[in-house]
Amino acid sequence: MAEMFKNFINGEWVTSKTGATFNDINPADKSEIVGVFPKSGAEDINMAVEAAASAFDKWRKTPAPARAEIIYKAEKLLRKKKDDIAKIATAEMGKILDETKGDVQEGIDTAFYMAGEGRRLFGDTTPSELKNKFCMSIRMPVGVVGLICPWNFPVAIPSWKIFPALICGNSVVLKPASDAPASSMELVQILQEAGMPKGVVNLVHGSGEEAGMALLNHPKVNLISFTGSAEVGKRIGEICGKNLKRCSLELGGKNAQIVMDDANIDLAVDGALWGAFGTTGQRCTATSRLIVHKGVLKEFTEKFVERAKKIRIGNGLSPDTDMGPVINESQLKKIHSYVEIGKKEGAKLLMGGYFYEEGECKKGFFYMPTIFADGHPSMRIAQEEIFGPVVLIMPVNSFEEAIEVINSTNYGLSSSVYTKDINRTFKAISDIQAGITYINSPTIGAETHLPFGGMKNSGNGHREAGKEVLNIFSEWKAVYIDYSKRLQKAQIDTAKEH
Ligand code: NAP
Ligand code: MG
Repeated sequence: MAEMFKNFINGEWVTSKTGATFNDINPADKSEIVGVFPKSGAEDINMAVEAAASAFDKWRKTPAPARAEIIYKAEKLLRKKKDDIAKIATAEMGKILDETKGDVQEGIDTAFYMAGEGRRLFGDTTPSELKNKFCMSIRMPVGVVGLICPWNFPVAIPSWKIFPALICGNSVVLKPASDAPASSMELVQILQEAGMPKGVVNLVHGSGEEAGMALLNHPKVNLISFTGSAEVGKRIGEICGKNLKRCSLELGGKNAQIVMDDANIDLAVDGALWGAFGTTGQRCTATSRLIVHKGVLKEFTEKFVERAKKIRIGNGLSPDTDMGPVINESQLKKIHSYVEIGKKEGAKLLMGGYFYEEGECKKGFFYMPTIFADGHPSMRIAQEEIFGPVVLIMPVNSFEEAIEVINSTNYGLSSSVYTKDINRTFKAISDIQAGITYINSPTIGAETHLPFGGMKNSGNGHREAGKEVLNIFSEWKAVYIDYSKRLQKAQIDTAKEH
């Protein structure tokens, strides 16, 4: 019997009022149930939001350095449990152990960085335009925040949201993805162990349609921080907009790597393999287009295909595996349908394009690394997010054309350029419409102290990570202190004096 898990509400582990459950399965072996989780509904969400609302005032009044002490403890516990949590994450969502260790490490880094904010959370002081008047800006918490997460970074993404939310003095209700709820459970357990006061962090499992919707429609939730698909993000933005709820959306991408004719080709091949097939292509920043100068197209393509053929597919827990499974059956079918679309559109299939069912792999959701050539911006496979191990090579004649092609999608999350030319480097940095540009490294590999997020349909203008994330989880208050002992009128008195 697989283990039964619970929600965490007001400091207690509790079953759902619905009594319904769902299975968290291992995508490398669909017969393996990692855990059974409550399929919560509006009543559970309401209890969690009420608990968060009651806990908020005391938490907001707890000095930020004291809030940080709890986060520092959580960071230590995460470090201690890193390998165990990585194994759970691999079992529930498939990516290889090295990558889930990296995922937990990102949580550790975020905890450490955000705990440091406990002694910063800087505002500004600035001169007043009037005499005997003092001006400053300070951060205020937003209140109860609802966090809705995807499954592909089951520790890092909840950490990216929880730690900044808490350091800013908010209380939290977390709704993890149905495909990977166990990792969030571990994270919340660590926060409990670290001494988080009851009600400050609440965890409610369940589907997006039921638990997610109830969370974002709850009148006491002041902010929704969502990471997931553009499709769901648009719906969430609409509902939040209608209720004037604060809302930050981190959405998908159609990221590309440019390879110029002066690039180090072996390095560019290394980057393309990691960018396109790391996490089985299921990263919001995954490389799904390779924009290659015709001068090096043949050499790059041959080397890339040769290396991609050597990728070892299998269970992510095995040290011999380079690439794990796809998350679930519907995603597997979606990937394959895009391969069919690509073929019909005239892209040339160089390798892959089929379900991988060798040996043990027939038990899970595996897909071959797939490479298309002869790509053109007019193709759907050059425009739409596939979210799987499929990459399209797009030939170009010049650097200018490469920039035009990289900017030719509705997304603008990550980008990469391989070149040795300093002028092209800076031109690329200034002309690529994306929230992230890497030079001579792949489209994946963000660090937690830099702003993360995208332009165009990759988000709604916010940035997670870095110090910018504090602007999501706090409100600015402008403060004016007049010590002149008389009524001073801004703009009016100032104008008279001159
Ligand atoms: P998703 O289907 O959009 O789901 C994300 C989360 O939203 C899940 O917790 C989901 O619950 C929930 N949800 C679904 N429908 C909802 C609704 N109507 N109301 C409220 N919540 C709802 O995305 P995914 O398949 O998990 O993740 C893949 C996507 O995330 C890709 O597009 C990827 O690019 C994007 N992503 C973006 C970033 C970034 O930072 N920009 C990072 C990672 C991933 P269920 O799990 O129960 O469906
Ligand atoms: Mg799972």
